[in-house]
Amino acid sequence: MGICEGKDNCDYWDHYYQQHNSHILGMFITWGFIASIVVVAGVINISGRHRKKLSQKDEEGKKTASGGRSIHGVLSAFFRKYLLPQSLWGLFSHVTRFQAMMVVLLTLYCTLFTFIGISYGVWVNPTKPPGRRIGFLEFSGDRTGCLAFAFVPLVFILSSRDNIFSLITGVSYQHFNFLHRWIGRFIFIMTWVHTVLWSIELGIMYQPQPTKYKTTWAKRYWKYGVGATALLTFLFLHSFRTVQKWTGYEFFRKSHEVVAVLFLGACWGHWPDMKEWIIAGIAIVFFDRCVRYVRMFLIHMNWTSGTSGAFGLHAFDGTISRHHDTDGIDVLVLRVKSNITWKAGQHFFLTFPTLSFLESHPFTTSNTPTPGAKTQDQLYIIRVLKGQTKRLADLCIEPDTEYPLPTIVCGPYGTSVIDQSASNYQLIAGGTGASFTLPLAQTIIASTSVSDEKRIIDFVWILRRAENLRWLQNELLELRRQATETPGVDLHIRVFVTRDGEVPSASSTSPAPSTPTASKEVCDPKDKETLGVNISTEAKTPEHDVTSWLQDHHPSCKDIVMAFRDECVGKIQVLASGPAGLGRDLREAVAGCNDSCKVWRGDEGGEVGLYWDSR
Ligand SMILES: Cc1cc2nc3c(=O)[nH]c(=O)nc-3n(C[C@H](O)[C@H](O)[C@H](O)COP(=O)(O)OP(=O)(O)OC[C@H]3O[C@@H](n4cnc5c(N)ncnc54)[C@H](O)[C@@H]3O)c2cc1C
Repeated sequence: MGICEGKDNCDYWDHYYQQHNSHILGMFITWGFIASIVVVAGVINISGRHRKKLSQKDEEGKKTASGGRSIHGVLSAFFRKYLLPQSLWGLFSHVTRFQAMMVVLLTLYCTLFTFIGISYGVWVNPTKPPGRRIGFLEFSGDRTGCLAFAFVPLVFILSSRDNIFSLITGVSYQHFNFLHRWIGRFIFIMTWVHTVLWSIELGIMYQPQPTKYKTTWAKRYWKYGVGATALLTFLFLHSFRTVQKWTGYEFFRKSHEVVAVLFLGACWGHWPDMKEWIIAGIAIVFFDRCVRYVRMFLIHMNWTSGTSGAFGLHAFDGTISRHHDTDGIDVLVLRVKSNITWKAGQHFFLTFPTLSFLESHPFTTSNTPTPGAKTQDQLYIIRVLKGQTKRLADLCIEPDTEYPLPTIVCGPYGTSVIDQSASNYQLIAGGTGASFTLPLAQTIIASTSVSDEKRIIDFVWILRRAENLRWLQNELLELRRQATETPGVDLHIRVFVTRDGEVPSASSTSPAPSTPTASKEVCDPKDKETLGVNISTEAKTPEHDVTSWLQDHHPSCKDIVMAFRDECVGKIQVLASGPAGLGRDLREAVAGCNDSCKVWRGDEGGEVGLYWDSR
């Protein structure tokens, strides 16, 4: 509390309180914006679900839905065309233009917030002349500190697996990770601006120096402030992939969680008058943890002794096998006997007590649950990397042999990703990404009714080696059988083998015989760019199933998506998973296929949606 002595000093304190009120107002306005965005996204989510229900319900409902969808479709096609491709700037690699735009808007907001409505005056400190109080340094310094505090609950919500934003908007938690990272970076920038401005004010402008600066270091708010800034700097630096690679991902994850909570404590110590924002952050962290542990408890608790085991907590029985290919890539196939169901495309966090109780990793189920079954077999395809997956691989001494592996499961996480209003679906997977697309294909086929118009499902799997087909060979054959038995479905299975150049005479792993066209084109370098598409459009095997041997390059995503778009009538959804490069190419390809004018004229083929599963 300032003591008002003299005109200049009183004027300063008048401004101080007026500025303080405007900072607090700004914090609430910020949350007003955030809440509005979430509410709008929630309304879009609910109206989307409502439209789907209407279109499924009755004939009249169908008309309403398609009438409403045309405006929705025109806007969707328009925004996809311009906002879906990868952003142009090197700063935002693997980021869509929409995401880059969000960062630009956020930058704009923070800049305006820092400078607008600030009292830019200069006041003489009457007690210690020639000391001065600089309005910009103090009030912009406070503003940035306040904005950093206001962002604290937000950054924690965006990092929680179970959070209210996902509940309202229907967007799964992992898609908020990008925003979590960027909001964290803005907290870092705002905090440093706050620190630098106040350091100049207290270390240079206030007098006498260095006495004033030295006494500042003894103050509680300064010590905690420096501590909070140091912890935040650690969190910021550790958020970069290069640093994560040095320290290992698991260390990053654990230290990130611990340091984030310490940061909350330091913020509280720095400015207890604003503890409400910190309490909100702490509440979010604890709520997320509690939900997670209660979930795991309920899944694994056996309430009665019986055939399923004694009373108490039990891990599920599982088996794991390792498969090795010519390129030295190891893939694990994990089968878990669980008692829970899930939707295609959802994932679980798995803990392996044999290795560690403290580590859990997300993996997507590669199959669909059996309706009504008490015990559900979960299938996971796991690519071996350097950490826990490597230790899992080490458990499998012999390749292609099953070993027992008790597994603790937490989930399912993620929302339903299939757009029921689409007429045709293209599922594109790179490598182990097929563990995501395969159950989706099964679900789409299962949900196709006889009365539906013919639905084309294009299942594209891009693999390095033909031998990789073994990961999901039986499931692919089962998919083909399921499609053959479903009248409304026209399933194409196209496999692109990118590193094998020869067509084995009788490949036992191929889902369908390779065509003569394929082997001929591999030898013809002129046709390389369009190789995959030529094969798929020219080869008229009875089942439309084609294996293309590309030898040394990837197929063109643009050609794959455009050829499918030209073949289909009606709205298309592309569902895909795989390496980041595939995601980038697909965004470009899908954006290019969207045509809002076409949709406006009533041709839904101009609307091509994309769901990309980033791992
Ligand atoms: C929603 C989701 C679903 C996934 N589904 C599959 C799947 O079906 N099959 C599959 O092979 N992989 C899947 N992944 C990736 C898989 O989680 C990681 O490859 C695995 O955790 C690597 O473990 P590691 O200790 O061997 O990794 P490390 O070699 O230590 O790290 C390699 C990279 O793996 C990622 N990673 C490591 N630990 C985690 C973690 N706890 N959470 C998130 N990412 C992590 C990081 O990007 C890290 O840079 C999925 C990831 C996500 C986010």
